[in-house]
This record gives sequence, structure tokens and C-alpha cells, in this order.
Amino acid sequence: MSVKTVFLIAAAALPLTLTGCGSMESLGSEQDIIASATQSCQKLDAKSQITTRYDSRMRVIRQGLPEVVNGQTLNYKVYQTKDMNAFAMPNGCVRVYSALLDRLNNDEVRAVLGHEIGHVALRHSVQQYRTNNGVALGMSAANAIGSVLGLGGTGSELLERVTYSAISAQYSQRLETEADNYSVDLLLHEKNGRQKALAMASALRKISTEGQGSTMLQKMFGDHPDTAERIKNVEDRVKASGVR
Ligand SMILES: [Zn+2]
Repeated sequence: MSVKTVFLIAAAALPLTLTGCGSMESLGSEQDIIASATQSCQKLDAKSQITTRYDSRMRVIRQGLPEVVNGQTLNYKVYQTKDMNAFAMPNGCVRVYSALLDRLNNDEVRAVLGHEIGHVALRHSVQQYRTNNGVALGMSAANAIGSVLGLGGTGSELLERVTYSAISAQYSQRLETEADNYSVDLLLHEKNGRQKALAMASALRKISTEGQGSTMLQKMFGDHPDTAERIKNVEDRVKASGVR
């Protein structure tokens, strides 16, 4: 969920996004990226405290959401942690942090899941690694997150990067908005579609205001300045749909 981002890294990466293409080949094919995501997901699971406490609630929330996107079967787990976060990887690994489930209601969690599914469905990770922005993040950023999570020393730049991108939700504003729109459009088609889709906006509001606690991840990732714009985009999209 990229309400959060690393300002310094993002700022440092910016000038490089304007330079020409190159060195993309070393980043691997979509298949490589998916394989790295699978490895990364396993490592994160091993490092995390997985809880089954929310499983029945998660089943209710997920009902009717897509189960296979971009050829990948989605698999969910909940991490017991004080951070408010959720992420999805291109192999269909979706992880939700327990604090998010504690703070958000079912409609809001559903909207967040729709957003995460959107990242997978729209192949955002693959796009991200193929942009200069992805290249510019470099190993220092990947190492930073790697050491926070105790993932350092894997020896695979792609693996580090896949992990880093997922956890830090280091997507561009454009990709974030695309994922928001994917979720909103999905929810608008449901019963009580307007209310369900607007839950995306209230989820964003809660995450940006309440998600700034004292844990290491929260200190690293502040509130994203573009959140207000994303909330407005969601509300405008719901309004324009005419769904009541
Ligand atoms: Zn996102």
C-alpha cells in the first residue's frame, strides 16, 4: 500500500528517471521477477510472525474478489505487526499486516485488497523494474530495507529489489492511482457499490493519519504527500460513475 514512501530515496531517484534507457537486460524477464517474488515471499514469511487470528474475517472480506490475476493465484497471509501496511507481489503473494485489520473496517480492507490485486493484475512490479526509476533505487535502498528485515546478503539484486519494492510500496503516483482505480471499478460493480468504492478513500485517510506510529518501518516511511490527491481521485471517480 503505497501511502508510504521513502522521501529521500524517491528524491534521489528522480533526476535519474529523466535519463535514457539502458541496463534493463540485467533486471531479468517477467519470469525471473516472478521467481524472485516467490523466493522473497518465502523469506518474508519465514521472518514474520504469521497469525491465523483473522482468517475467518479475511475469508468474508475476500469473498467475490478475483482469485487469479495475470495467471497468478492469489495467496494471502496476515503478519502480526504494529505497522499498517499491505503488499502484493507479482507471483500473487498478498500480505496484510494485522494493524491494518485492527484499524480498518471490512469495506476498507476490501478496498485495500482490491488495490493490491490491481498491482498484480496490471503487472506493476514488472513495469516498475523496467523503468529507470527502478534502476535508480539501486542496491543501497534495497540493502536498507533488506537489513531492516534481516534479508541482507542474499546476493541477488533482483531478489532484494522485488522485496524492497513490495514492502516499501515504491510505486510511482501513476501506478498507485491505477491500482486505486482498479479497486474502485471492481467495487462499483458490487451491491452497495458506491459505499464500497468510497471505502478506498476512507482507507487512505486512515492509513495516512493513523499509520504513522513509532515502529521502524513507520519512521522510515512517512505520510505520502500525494495521498490527498489520491483521495480526491477516488471520490471524483465514484461521483463520475453515477453509481448510487
Ligand atoms: Zn499500492
